[in-house]
Amino acid sequence: MKLGLDFDGVLFNTKLLKKKLEERYDCFMESYHENKKESVYNSIYDFRGQCKDMNVDSKEFLETVKDLSKDCLYDDVDKLNDIGLEKVIITRGKRDFQKAKIEGSGILDYVDDYRIVDGNYSKNFEDIDILIDDTLNELYGFKGKKIHFDREEADLELLIDTLESFKYITTV
Ligand SMILES: [Mg+2]
Repeated sequence: MKLGLDFDGVLFNTKLLKKKLEERYDCFMESYHENKKESVYNSIYDFRGQCKDMNVDSKEFLETVKDLSKDCLYDDVDKLNDIGLEKVIITRGKRDFQKAKIEGSGILDYVDDYRIVDGNYSKNFEDIDILIDDTLNELYGFKGKKIHFDREEADLELLIDTLESFKYITTV
């Protein structure tokens, strides 16, 4: 049994990273909203457009993102060790941007692998049995078992209880 885990908003506090980027780059939030608005049509935010607006080198920006991602994991991620299933991060976004966050965050100590969906494809990977995501739209497109995970109401302890109650996992 393989568990698919969304990254942003599930394992990684994306709001915190945005806050840190805002502290680092004066014009970050303003240009972020501008670029997000434009990306509605292709749905994926592209940091390169924003770097251009901010007059920041995109390589340097990625390095900063990687560096700032260090302290952005939710503090219960070590609970992932209690889940005796293969764990794969399934995240949507621009490949190198997601990679910088994932690698910089240190989450790779807790999961087996990660996959980045860079485009409008679904997260429906045949070998993933259960998908955990905070975005309902991602779950609609997934054909296996799915759990909506909202950080406002839940933490990884509750997720583990849920996985147990469905008999997806057993812990001692
Ligand atoms: Mg998410």
